[in-house]
Amino acid sequence: MKDILAPDFSPDPYWWRAAPPSDATEVALPAQTDLAVVGAGYAGLSAAIAAARAGRSVCVIEARNPGWGASTRSVGMIGGRLRQGYAALAAALGEDVALGLMHETRDAYGWFRDFVQTEGIACDLRQSGRLVCAWTPRDMRRLEGLSRFLSGKVGIRAEMLDRAALRAEVDSDLHRGAMLLPDDGSLHPALLHKGLLDAAVAAGVVVVPQTPVRSIDRDGAGLRVQTTRGAIAARDVILATNAHTGREFGWFRRRVIPVGSYMIATERLPRETLDRLIPKHRLVNDTRQLAYAFRRSPDGDRLLVGGRASARDHADPRKVAAGLHRILRGLFPELAGTRVSHAWGGMVAFTFDRLPRIGRHDGVHYILGCNGSGVVMQTYLGRKAAAAVTGSADATTGFARGDFPTSSFYTGSPWFMAPLTAWYDIRDRAARWAAH
Ligand SMILES: Cc1cc2nc3c(=O)[nH]c(=O)nc-3n(C[C@H](O)[C@H](O)[C@H](O)COP(=O)(O)OP(=O)(O)OC[C@H]3O[C@@H](n4cnc5c(N)ncnc54)[C@H](O)[C@@H]3O)c2cc1C
Repeated sequence: MKDILAPDFSPDPYWWRAAPPSDATEVALPAQTDLAVVGAGYAGLSAAIAAARAGRSVCVIEARNPGWGASTRSVGMIGGRLRQGYAALAAALGEDVALGLMHETRDAYGWFRDFVQTEGIACDLRQSGRLVCAWTPRDMRRLEGLSRFLSGKVGIRAEMLDRAALRAEVDSDLHRGAMLLPDDGSLHPALLHKGLLDAAVAAGVVVVPQTPVRSIDRDGAGLRVQTTRGAIAARDVILATNAHTGREFGWFRRRVIPVGSYMIATERLPRETLDRLIPKHRLVNDTRQLAYAFRRSPDGDRLLVGGRASARDHADPRKVAAGLHRILRGLFPELAGTRVSHAWGGMVAFTFDRLPRIGRHDGVHYILGCNGSGVVMQTYLGRKAAAAVTGSADATTGFARGDFPTSSFYTGSPWFMAPLTAWYDIRDRAARWAAH
């Protein structure tokens, strides 16, 4: 275990080297505001920017320092594909609604890229293209159908690569082929967060760090937001706490399932090695239930690997390093001796039907449930939630569904995730074994 950790190993996200969470000094809590936003990740900041620019006084209240949550910890993969499968979605909601949600997700990605460019946020956004690699022959057939569906019905460019074509993209024997999504991209998640924070402050938003919100109650025509540092009266409130939604927000907490997700960054590798292993800087996913993600760092000198590690690895960064290093060696055996410079974890929020949600409950607007791909969607839905608050026509979205399902057995503590992760691991191994 010792061998795989670089001498300067850090348990902080690699991204924090370029943009650590703001260590803003204490900011006075205003007595009142038009809009109070709880949570200073992408969702909260995006909502705050839009509402402030529409003329509202806005206060963002953050329990830690802005940037502490998932928004500065991700792989930084972006795209326009809704992860929920079409068949399940169409069965639940009907074909038109299902397709409408897929088109909206595609368009959200277009909006997001324009937004980053218009705002001038320097976050290494790059159209790298994503490879979804087939773990088994059955997965390859499934990807063929998916790529036809995406390019034919959703309007997302997708093409299939056989083993030889994939080999030119990723120098590994692990997969038999892949679906290429050439328009998907990558960015530096912490620099995106910093850009949003700067834009919010420039728009006049008051960002209050180190101030956990304890409760939100109706108070006359508005709401009273009780924090550890006093109360604030708000005409409207947006809850943007995602996987960190605590017991103080019981109704919401019972609707999101917080799941640990982990990453490592390798030490610097020779440029020639990485130019051979992933020459076009593609993002690399595969079809395992416990999906993994590989990418090069924006400077091109390191590999970043994201995934669930395993049920046993929990949140200990050293165990995370060991778990994800196994995955790294699986894809690129020649990197067995490569050391890990950073290993960290974060929390993503799943919903019971795998759809992100915005809406309003008991007077409180919410943006919750990134389902593991919230860089684009949480930013996009932040803008939508602000439009709902300000009464703008831009508020229309299929993700404001009215319902927000939970399970009567779920209290907000996902005790089932450890056994489920172990079960997925067994299924992935068995599927591969059966294919041989
Ligand atoms: C390891 C990892 C890899 C990922 N990879 C990708 C990827 O490649 N692509 C992608 O699209 N997405 C990815 N994601 C998901 C993405 O990062 C999230 O969807 C997104 O950042 C969520 O943003 P958010 O603003 O909703 O929540 P967060 O950024 O988590 O912000 C929520 C904030 O609310 C605050 N908060 C909670 N409770 C309170 C309270 N009571 N009072 C005040 N503040 C409170 C928290 O402190 C936190 O800062 C990944 C996530 C992780 C962890």
